[in-house]
Amino acid sequence: MPIDATLPYDSDNIFARILRGEIPARKVYEDEHALAFHDINPAAPVHILVIPKGAYVSWDDFSARATDDEIAGFIRAVGHIAREHDLVAPGYRLLANVGGHAGQEVPHLHVHLFGGRPLGPMLA
Ligand code: 5GP
Repeated sequence: MPIDATLPYDSDNIFARILRGEIPARKVYEDEHALAFHDINPAAPVHILVIPKGAYVSWDDFSARATDDEIAGFIRAVGHIAREHDLVAPGYRLLANVGGHAGQEVPHLHVHLFGGRPLGPMLA
């Protein structure tokens, strides 16, 4: 069920629980601002989710409320992870769903990082 991205942050969401170590995830990267782990249902050979450590519902919430340090740290982490996985030369895709029309399911901002095969044209 897609979320309403205008609702307040729900600290019981599944990615908040992963951040707190309450449920496991296959982590690939962690620093002060970001945590990255493999998607449980991968849509490509590489499908990594990168989330900020702060409590942000969506890209909209993050871009409105996060500090410049958090935003810079998060964006640098995404780039670092792509380079670490040798995705730059073959190419990769970043995607962040926001709310109902985009089908966002988890109400904690996550950027999908896809790679490892030709990804085809964007659908929308
Ligand atoms: P959304 O549709 O919100 O942009 O994407 C949510 C993503 O989170 C989906 O690709 C889904 O497979 C992934 N996901 C949902 N629950 C879990 C989980 O418990 N662990 C991991 N690693 N990924 C999850």
